[in-house]
Amino acid sequence: MRRVLVTGGGSGIGRAIAQAFADDGDAVTISGRRLDALEETNGGRGMTCVACDVTDEAQVAALFGAPFDVVIANAGAGAPMKMRDLPLEQWNSIINVNLTGVFLTFRAALQTMQAGGRLIAMASTASLQGGPNISAYVASKHGVLGLVRALATEVARDGITCNAVCPGFVDTPMGDAAAEGVAKRFGISQEEATARIVSGNPMRRMIRPEEVVAAVKFLASPEASMVNGHALSVSGGEV
Ligand code: NAD
Repeated sequence: MRRVLVTGGGSGIGRAIAQAFADDGDAVTISGRRLDALEETNGGRGMTCVACDVTDEAQVAALFGAPFDVVIANAGAGAPMKMRDLPLEQWNSIINVNLTGVFLTFRAALQTMQAGGRLIAMASTASLQGGPNISAYVASKHGVLGLVRALATEVARDGITCNAVCPGFVDTPMGDAAAEGVAKRFGISQEEATARIVSGNPMRRMIRPEEVVAAVKFLASPEASMVNGHALSVSGGEV
């Protein structure tokens, strides 16, 4: 039985990942800022739920009392805004959650992780390409991929791999918020906004959380032992 940690496990992609690993019989710990959301994810599956803000160094360190075999740094946030209007506070907040949060999580994991360990970051197609009104998000996610590529070369000799999953537009609360933002900006309905967003995707649809889970499962599997420093795009061919 592997010990698996998922940060930001109270909703969306993190919830789907945690439930899938738990349903496969792994010992899953989920962390997040709201215990009630974590308990909802758990739903009687026997997961360990720990309140933890990924930007808090001490709280993150406290997650790692015992070594994990698979660590999925999934917690993330974004708020669309034109860069000329972006307050420094908001820039710092997004960089802190999306990039520093991954750094703190992986650094703490490496204090005890053994050979065979897997570090997986939830990056984004925003790690691979730019887009309007999301400069802090894009910068943070490019940073995540840079961190993954660098760390992969550092931990390889210890038998550990470090990879990134790069989803496009996924059907989660964050995906809904992105569509809401577009709807507001252009004075269109949520459905029209979603259609506009997915029109840039060759598959013309949102990605399902379980399609992201499958990529994470692969990277965590023994079969992926030589996949290291990789950015696995789950985007229907968008990038
Ligand atoms: P979501 O909003 O449902 O999940 C994000 C989770 O991170 C939430 O549970 C939130 O509470 C948690 N979180 C935010 N700040 C935190 C903090 N400081 N400490 C701890 N937890 C915190 O959205 P999601 O779509 O499931 O996003 C999961 C990951 O996938 C994120 O990293 C996101 O950037 C990435 N992603 C999402 C999409 C998409 O279209 N939904 C696309 C590409 C990548």
